[in-house]
Amino acid sequence: MLAPKEKAAHVGQREAASNTYAFAILSRLLDRLQGVKRTGAGRWIARCPAHEDRHPSLAIRELEDGRVLLHCFAGCDVHQIVSAVGLSLADLFPPRAIDHARPERIPFPAADVLRAVAFEALLCAVAAADMAKGKTLSDAERERLIKAAARLQEAARLGGAA
Ligand SMILES: [Zn+2]
Repeated sequence: MLAPKEKAAHVGQREAASNTYAFAILSRLLDRLQGVKRTGAGRWIARCPAHEDRHPSLAIRELEDGRVLLHCFAGCDVHQIVSAVGLSLADLFPPRAIDHARPERIPFPAADVLRAVAFEALLCAVAAADMAKGKTLSDAERERLIKAAARLQEAARLGGAA
């Protein structure tokens, strides 16, 4: 058994180690991404490396326990994203955080979710304007609209609405 004072020092040390680890992973990740923009404390957006991403659709968030959360609003899974930059899923989780990792109910801030929603809404408006002009949508365009609906649903879920 450690005396309370020693115990506190011990815990402090582990805290520091996990922050250093998280910092190293985060810098490696951000270095390998393009179009990185900081959107707040511990939050960034970037172009997703796992798909042809002209509009930044990857949200990155560093949690207080050192875990790094990634979400591509275009629907790439986190495996595809980390392997596209030569990292693995395990890299995102500092050893200490694994014991008490619990799912975040609202992992991404409203501003990041709304940015993705705004883009999908624009896409729908463009399609509606085309149809109003009498243009027939191609199969690919129709599929993209169905995808837009799925992404909007997903955004509602991430924003805590569903
Ligand atoms: Zn993606």
